[in-house]
This record gives sequence, structure tokens and C-alpha cells, in this order.
Amino acid sequence: MKPAERIATLRQQIAYHNERYYAADSPEIADADYDTLVRELAILEREHPDLVDDVSPTQSVGAGSLNIAFSPVVHRQPMTSLDNAMGDGELAGWGERLTRALGDQPVRFVCELKIDGLAISLRYEDGRLVQAATRGDGRVGEDVTANVATIASLPKSLPGTLSGTPPKVLPKVLEVRGEVYLPSAAFHRLQKAKEAENRDRIAAGRKPEPVPVNPRNAGAGSLRQKDPQVTAGRGLDIWCYQLGEVVAGPKLLTHAASLDLLRDLGLPVNPEIRFVDDMSQVLAFCHHWQQQRHTLPYEIDGVVVKVDSLAQREKLGHTSRAPRWAVAFKFPPEERTTILRDIKVSVGRTGRTTPFAELEPVFVGGSTVSMATLHNQDQVAAKDVRPGDTVVVRKAGDVIPEVVGPVLSLRPAGSKPWKFPRICPCPLHTELVRPEGEADTRCVEPACPFQRDQRIIYFASRSAMDIEGLGENTVFQLSDAGLIEDAADIYSLSREQLLTLDKWGETKADNLLQAIEGSKNRPLPRLLTALGCKGLGPSASEALSRAFGTLDAVMNASEADLENTDGVGPTIAAGIVRWFAVTANREMVEKLRVAGVEFGRVEVSRLPQNLAGKAVVITGTLDGYSRESAEAAVKDRGGKSPGSVSAKTFALVAGADAGASKLTKANDLTIPILDLAGFEYLLATGELPPA
Ligand code: NAD
Repeated sequence: MKPAERIATLRQQIAYHNERYYAADSPEIADADYDTLVRELAILEREHPDLVDDVSPTQSVGAGSLNIAFSPVVHRQPMTSLDNAMGDGELAGWGERLTRALGDQPVRFVCELKIDGLAISLRYEDGRLVQAATRGDGRVGEDVTANVATIASLPKSLPGTLSGTPPKVLPKVLEVRGEVYLPSAAFHRLQKAKEAENRDRIAAGRKPEPVPVNPRNAGAGSLRQKDPQVTAGRGLDIWCYQLGEVVAGPKLLTHAASLDLLRDLGLPVNPEIRFVDDMSQVLAFCHHWQQQRHTLPYEIDGVVVKVDSLAQREKLGHTSRAPRWAVAFKFPPEERTTILRDIKVSVGRTGRTTPFAELEPVFVGGSTVSMATLHNQDQVAAKDVRPGDTVVVRKAGDVIPEVVGPVLSLRPAGSKPWKFPRICPCPLHTELVRPEGEADTRCVEPACPFQRDQRIIYFASRSAMDIEGLGENTVFQLSDAGLIEDAADIYSLSREQLLTLDKWGETKADNLLQAIEGSKNRPLPRLLTALGCKGLGPSASEALSRAFGTLDAVMNASEADLENTDGVGPTIAAGIVRWFAVTANREMVEKLRVAGVEFGRVEVSRLPQNLAGKAVVITGTLDGYSRESAEAAVKDRGGKSPGSVSAKTFALVAGADAGASKLTKANDLTIPILDLAGFEYLLATGELPPA
């Protein structure tokens, strides 16, 4: 295709997506896919300057059309966008251009979180909020005053005089720029409510409605509601980060001073703002928040880096769509759109079936994703995802990839809702059962080969017997070859048998046999976990090991005795008793005994149990400790180390790069926060260090 044609096609596509995103709050492609189109266009325009056009999306802001439900508002100062920097190199390049343009003057940078919301302009006259407007195309926005007025944290009137020396006088006109956003918790509430509503709709034979896919779009939709009552119920919030038009206000020389003014007026200003003097510190801030973004109770999609001095800003100026004195460092995308090829069902070790999506592979959240869980039957129905759909896939941080929902406007004609299979996909084809009142559909045939394989995989897994080299694929291979039928069979595998398998050489076979041999003397809690009794995880296994000492003692204990163990409730006790009641399971235990697997190795801590009954939460990194070893130090002294702060937490130990949400919660609940020295005092004495 000729450049001019490609440019025209890209402009058309981008204009279409702008319309869907800005005007309809219902994008069809993920931001990263949209950004790829814009980048391609920008490169082509750079290579062919004669084809640059003022109306190109690379030169303009937002979308052309406005929602007719709102009156237009002409911005007295344009609301522009931001140029993007993808990665360290582009950010450093921006810094160099800037310094050059300023004749090598020193530059103070402001680093702010890039809130993933909707830009807003707030106009206060004589201290009263008189207007709130969206950005629109940068020149004309929409009047959303009634809706913005429902945001609880936003003052509707400002104090007349501000304390300080000399006291500041409230400007006659004060235009504040900020970002309206939907906090993550409010978004999840909205998503869950919509999913529940869809379940009812489906049950009543009605069509499900689109489920909101991310807080940004849900926030934009919530703000642009015709009925402010609906907006009020959504729980929107705001961060203010900039001044617009100011009439009769104090003389301000820096961004820092503008932020102070905003704070003094009681307007919400994000606490995570840093002023730094060189690019390496800017990069450190960006990297820190790229790592920590999920500790915040709201979404960010990058960091905005700005020049602090207003005189320097003036000198640097603007392009038609963005200031030259600021740049958005964008984080790698966590959402992409792709094609859902098929929906299949996997069978877990307890017979629970889980639908999962087979996807056209897509690079998201730092890796290529080709499969994603769909959780259960109701979730598939509530999201109404179907084979052939274009879907939004999300992979955030360490969280497993998720299919967020379908892009309904791209659904192929004639597609039908997906139906949950009625029989197990394993070769036995047993009928699946969904017990009354349960969300899960199960295969209840204990001989199901799929369940059997999963039980063996679990037995060998890291949290259980930790057998290196005995992962999913090896277990499938051994099981398909008929060499193993239960976990105990692994202990009678021979070198000769392994060498008959496809692509197995002597080294691989010897390594596996060595790893299997090494697992024979794992401590009792690991063996107990490995058995896979319903509900019995590592911490209850530890408690049982301490109380009973040997596998035989656990096996022969009554349900009441098990239940009376601290950390073991009635569900786990019942699960254990039920497990040992199955003849095949008892036979497997005997095979393990014959194989020489240790049944009574308990590593009981000899340390004083001075943290018994106390919950100590760890966040951030502590010199000399890994996260695991810090938690183990608490548990070895009888304490618990849960992953989140609650009213029951005894203390929060906060190391470097501590999670902001944990700190905030601990502060809110007045829970003591300890540093490394405090932690060591706590470990030694079981008490809080003296204040
Ligand atoms: P942008 O979101 O990349 O950056 C500009 C915006 O950042 C500002 O207008 C402001 O609202 C916001 N912002 C947040 N925190 C800020 C802070 N501390 N200081 C200053 N500004 C802050 O640019 P844009 O023009 O709003 O939108 C472009 C982006 O929107 C694209 O990169 C794309 O990701 C997305 N988009 C997606 C589609 C789609 O179809 N998926 C379509 C159009 C646009």
C-alpha cells in the first residue's frame, strides 16, 4: 500500500476508535492496540512531511463529537493531551531535548502518577464551584457540573482566606484541572453488580448487557450519565493536578506553588508527587511505580513528568496537541484485544471443572498469553463470551490472565451463547454434576484419568513434595505410557522404563529419579499437603504435624481430635476423614510406606513461641530477609503472617518500597508500623518496641 493510502486508512481507523472511546465510552480495541495505530501514523507522517494535515489525529486532542446530553463548554485555555514516552530511552531523549531548548539551564522535574481516568476542568468563581467540563476536543468540552458535584471528596465551596504568612486571598476565578477516576474497589463493585444482573437477565431469557471492562471506561461512562443520581451511586473520585485560568490570584512561579495552593484550598492532591533534579531520579520514580502500581487503590497507566518552573514552561511552549514541558511515561500494557478461538473445560484434582479460553496468542502484561481461565459456568454466562469473539484480555502484575469481556460490536453474525458441556472431556466421558447451590460443575468419577493426573501433579508440586522435573508434561507422559496410576507409583519408576519414553535420555531420567528419591524424606507437613485432602493446605498441614507428629497418627485420629487442632476447622477435619475412608487412598499410603517415604519428619521450631496468636503483616523488602524468610521468622515463633492488614493485625512491618495501600490501611486502623529494627525487637521479645 502506498504511504498516502496507508496514512488515510490509519486516520480513518483512529478517528473511528476515537469516537468509540471518547464519545461512546465503549472502545473496541485495547489502548495498546490503539497506540500502535497512532505510532504507525506518526512515523509515516514524519517520513512524509508533505502528507501532514492539521486534522490528523496526531495533531489533535480527543474526538470530534460531543454527547448531546450535555451543553458545550468552551475552554478559555485549551485542555491538551500529553506526548508519550515508551520506555527509558524515549524519556531520556525528551529530557535531553528539553535541556537543550533551555540552553542547559538546570531543570527541576515533577513526577506525578498518571491517573487512568478522565480529564476535567473545574471552575470556581468567588469560591463556588460553578462549572465542571470534560476535555472534549481540547477546545470545547461537555458541561458535567451536576455529575461532578456528586463527588464527595471535592469541595463545592472554597475557604475565602487562607492561613499562612502573608495570608493568601482566594482568587476571584480559579480553574482547576484534574482527573476524575473510578477507584478499583468501586469498579469491582460495579462489575460484580452487572454480572449478577446479567445472570438474572439470562435466567429470564433476556440478553445480557456489556460488563464494564476497566475502571477508565467505567469511570468515563459513570461521569457522563444523564442522571446525576446514577453518577452519585458509582463512587467516583478525583485528584487535582494543575491550574488553568486564574483571575486575581497569587503570583505563582512554580508547579510546586500551584499544588500548595490547591492543597491549601482543600482540593484533593495526590500524595505521591516527587520533585527531583535529574533524569536518573525521574527514571527511578517511573520504575518504582511500574512495579508498585497495583498497590494503589486506583489505576495508573504511567507517570507524568513535568517541568516545575513556570518560566521554563513558558519558554518551552506547546504543540497543537500537547505541552513540550511535560511527557507521559507509559507503562507496558496490561490489556490487549485478541480473538477467542474456543472455550474448553479442564478437570482439576478434586473433579472440579473449569472453563478456559483458548486465545489467539497475544503479548500482554510482560508475556505471551494463549490461555485464560473463565472460572466457572456462571462467569462465562455473565460475561457472555463466545468462540469467535474479539475479547479484552488483561494480565496485571502477578495475577493470572483474565478474559475481561467480549467486544460486542465485533461479534460475528450468527454466534450463539456457549453451553457448558454435560460430560467430562476425559476418555471415560462421565456425566458432569452441578450440585444444587454450588457454582462448580464436577466430575464425580474417582477413576477419571484427568483428575488422577492432576492429583499426581499436585503431589509433586512446589508447595507439596517439591519434585523437580515432575511437572505437568512429564506426568501426562508417564500416565499416558501407563507407568503411573497414582502418586505412589512414581517411587517404583525405573531407569529402563523412563528410557523407553519419547525424548528421554540418561541424564533426564537420572535427574528425575534422583529428585524422586530426594523427596522421600520431606517433612511431614509437605507429605500431608501432597495427599490433597479437600481443604488441607500447607498451614493446616503444619498445625496437624505439630499436634500429631506422624502420618499414622493423623490417619487414625478422630474427626473431633482433628477439628480440635488450632488452625484446623471442621471442613478440613471432615475432608481428611473422608479422604482416608477411601480404600484406594489408604492403599496409596501403604505404597508410600513400602517405598520408604518418611511418615514422621516434623520440623518443630525450637524458638520461643512469643508471637503465638499474633498476626504480623510484612510489606516491602527488609535487609537480610526475603519475604518468605521474614514470614517464616514470625511463624517459627508461633505467629501468623497474613498477606493483608486488618483490624486483627498486631503490627505491620514495612521495609523499603512498602506497599502504599497496606501503609494507609495500617494508619487508618492505628496499627503499629515497624521498621527493620522494630521487627527484630518484636522477634526477640514478642512485644512492640518502646515508642
Ligand atoms: P493520555 O491519556 O495519554 O494523556 C493525557 C491525559 O493524561 C491528560 O489529558 C489527563 O487526563 C491525564 N492525566 C492523568 N494524570 C495526570 C497528571 N498527573 N498530570 C497531567 N495529566 C494527567 O492522552 P489522551 O489524549 O487523554 O488519550 C490518549 C490515550 O487514550 C491513548 O494513549 C490511548 O491509550 C487511549 N485511547 C484509546 C482508544 C481505544 O480505542 N482503546 C481510543 C482513543 C484513545
